[in-house]
Formats: sequence, structure tokens, C-alpha cells
Amino acid sequence: MHNHCINKLLNIEDVIVKNIFHSDSYVKITLETKPTEHICLVCGRITKRIHDYRMHTIKDLPFQFKHCYLVLRKRRYSCSCGKRFYENYHFLPKYFQRTSRMTAFIADALHDARSICLSLIINFK
Ligand SMILES: [Zn+2]
Repeated sequence: MHNHCINKLLNIEDVIVKNIFHSDSYVKITLETKPTEHICLVCGRITKRIHDYRMHTIKDLPFQFKHCYLVLRKRRYSCSCGKRFYENYHFLPKYFQRTSRMTAFIADALHDARSICLSLIINFK
């Protein structure tokens, strides 16, 4: 399967799918992005200098009735002013361990559960 087809399946653009691992209970999908120019958060200069990488595991929506984890090879840039920073990802809020869509799914599920509880309480009276 071509990478763009996998991206469509995952509904995440601008990532390169490096590997997909299936176990009985989970799916792990290893991703990385292409290096791009970034604006330094401190001095405002543009940098493409890569400092290092870290592997970051993010919980995503279930896939084929299995837990799904995105393993992202996060790139950290460095600037000539000495500042180091991670690149931003549109599908991942900063400092979170789950994708934006997973957070939205949980919020919707809680909203639905609250609505059901309220209707049960109202109908019980
Ligand atoms: Zn800088």
C-alpha cells in the first residue's frame, strides 16, 4: 500500500508511515515527518538545523477493535541563539499523550454518557 493511501486511511496528512506492527491487542504505527524550516520561538530566526530525535508514543482512536498507538519520531531543532525546540504537529496538541481526535472522541463519549444519565434521572422521577 502506498504511503498516501495509508495517510488517507489514518486521516493524517504530512507524515511518513515507516512501519505498522500488529499484535493481538494493539496496533503500533511508526511515523515521522519531513524536516522543514522552523521559526525560532526566542529570536524569530529561521532554522533547519536538527538537534536530535525522540520517540513519542501517542494513543489514537481504536483501529480494527484494537488499541492504536502512533509512535512518532519527534524532531528537535536548534537555533543559532541556542534555543532548542520540537516541531509542531497539527494532529497532536503540545505535551499530550493522545491525538486531538482521541481527545474529541472522549469528550463526545462523556457528553453522551452525561446526556443518558440526565435522561435516566429525569425519567426516573
Ligand atoms: Zn533563536
